[in-house]
Amino acid sequence: MNTKIVSVSSENVDMKAIEEAGQIIKNGGLVAFPTETVYGLGGDGLNPESSNKIYAAKGRPSDNPLIIHICRIEDLEKIVKCVPEKAKKVIDAFWPGPLTMIFEKRDCVPRETTGGLDTVAVRFPIHETALKFIEAAGGFVAAPSANLSGRPSPTLAKYVCEDLNGRVDMIIDGGNIPIGVESTIVDMTSEIPMILRPGYVTKEMLEEVVGEVKVDPTILDINCKERPKAPGMRYRHYAPKADMTVVRGEDESVIAKILEMGQNIEGCVVLSVSEHIDKYKGMTVKDVGSKEDSLQIASNLYKVLRECDDEGVKIILSESFSNQGIGAAVMNRLIKAAGHQILDV
Ligand code: AMP
Ligand code: MG
Repeated sequence: MNTKIVSVSSENVDMKAIEEAGQIIKNGGLVAFPTETVYGLGGDGLNPESSNKIYAAKGRPSDNPLIIHICRIEDLEKIVKCVPEKAKKVIDAFWPGPLTMIFEKRDCVPRETTGGLDTVAVRFPIHETALKFIEAAGGFVAAPSANLSGRPSPTLAKYVCEDLNGRVDMIIDGGNIPIGVESTIVDMTSEIPMILRPGYVTKEMLEEVVGEVKVDPTILDINCKERPKAPGMRYRHYAPKADMTVVRGEDESVIAKILEMGQNIEGCVVLSVSEHIDKYKGMTVKDVGSKEDSLQIASNLYKVLRECDDEGVKIILSESFSNQGIGAAVMNRLIKAAGHQILDV
């Protein structure tokens, strides 16, 4: 398949390219597009064949459901059976934005899109190009992240090309992605909403709007034997090719341990906050951002992991970062990227 690559800036959206992209989706094709979280791999969410193509293009197991992206709030009721009162409050506070909600699905949503489930994940993004594209595509774009299954999610179009060139009809290059980790997923089908995947919108932010919010126990305790409620959280996701270990503890002990483990080891890279870069003299170090700025770390994390792949890095030793705010999402992805290899010092 020949993949057409177009550049579209959010400030001045090229409507001709967007119309063409929309038409591809309506014809059952696939288009990768930018959102505020990561790049998405879009197909028609109401067409089972399109969803099957998405799984095939990504090499994704077909029991790992897709998120349907909408561009108008009135479209929500066309695909979900009911919108609970608490969900309405969440919508008022956080949509459009980097938050996905799980609802009971209507019959028009094919099981291919929901990985066989009776529920559907829905997101209303805020990214200008994404919104125009979803509208041109008919309003219901199923989209997982635009990477090959198991690889870090793409935050730049060049990484989408690396994974999907020749596997999709079009890639819309929208430049840099502002947030850099995937949306928060909240299950709204139970009386008390439950976070299935942490993201930019935190538990605290949600609790201010709807009161008590639970977190899927498998996110809080990596040794938890229960099955994660978001099927996608079961797989080893977000993984770089290198063998990766996260070293956790007080700053000084972490630095000392990484120095001890990584000195004189060929192909070893340290992921460090900006404040500690100078401590790793003689080692190859990548700066993930200031320890005071979790959003900066979020937006750099996948890029840094992909750079390690590009450079053939064999071993990654990562510091652990703040768990506060979006830091919870960063640490969730970091630990998954490391295949749960954590060293407490
Ligand atoms: P991705 O689009 O790659 O960020 O993956 C979408 C995530 O949403 C995966 O972890 C899915 O398992 C999760 N998801 C999608 N639909 C549902 C659903 N109906 N119930 C629970 N999790 C879902
Ligand atoms: Mg993904």
